[in-house]
Amino acid sequence: MKIVKDTKDLNKILENLRIKNTKIGLVPTMGSIHKGHLSLINEAKKLNCFSIVSIFINPTQFNNINDFNEYPQNSLEDIEMLKKINCDALFFPKTKDMYPKGLTKQKTIFEFRNILCDKFRPGHFDGVTTVVNKLFSLIKPNVAFFGEKDFQQLKIVEKIVINNKLPIKIHPCPSIKLKNGMSYSSRYKNFTSNQKNIFNKIANRINFNVYLLTKKIDLNILNILNQEILEIGARNIEYLEVRTEDSLVITNNNKKARLFVAFNIDQIRVIDNFVLY
Ligand code: AMP
Repeated sequence: MKIVKDTKDLNKILENLRIKNTKIGLVPTMGSIHKGHLSLINEAKKLNCFSIVSIFINPTQFNNINDFNEYPQNSLEDIEMLKKINCDALFFPKTKDMYPKGLTKQKTIFEFRNILCDKFRPGHFDGVTTVVNKLFSLIKPNVAFFGEKDFQQLKIVEKIVINNKLPIKIHPCPSIKLKNGMSYSSRYKNFTSNQKNIFNKIANRINFNVYLLTKKIDLNILNILNQEILEIGARNIEYLEVRTEDSLVITNNNKKARLFVAFNIDQIRVIDNFVLY
């Protein structure tokens, strides 16, 4: 696996790949690599792409400085895990290369806004789209892999490509779940055993209610689940809503519906979504 920190070295690798007509598959991440990330790299391999993973904890997508400072970092472990699954290249962008004009972000995507995470993390998606645009223009991948775990992010990234007519295929990847039914997340590396306990109990209630919602979407089920999550020990719930996959509008019909949830266990943010069809 090639480890690249410099954009000049990255460009050399990319040039060689283009000469050989090799497909370039980009997997943007913030590191603390887990099975969810690995599944994206495996998808890139299945499509015969040269897999490039980027690890960059993007400061402009954090709307809270403590959240940024506490975001887990495990570069050495990440390198070992990525080597093990034969990832082709690992790119550690430098902040000055991502943000040559300083830490600014632009609002370029106006669809799928003012709902879900955008309501609770103002400016977050502007940070995401700014860094994704930068990675796309630097790497010019043929395919970019994004997880359905961050469903709203996936929809917004798809819009970057559509609105700008970029020659990039966005490849959505299903969520890889822990034994408790919740998706893997880097943030869970910071859980204490007590927080993990709360997380598992909440997971149990979510799973049961997802099962009920799969049969029939009923507001009462959502209200009861909401109460249960708080009683078990979540600090707050940002949203617990059933929306359609296509347009992310609220629905009471199972067709292409998902349950979207975001809550905090102390300072640790949990977001996830569940297919209801
Ligand atoms: P992150 O490092 O959390 O920014 O995630 C990098 C990419 O991995 C994003 O496209 C995420 O949606 C995706 N991802 C994160 N967790 C999972 C998971 N459990 N299953 C599938 N994809 C995931």
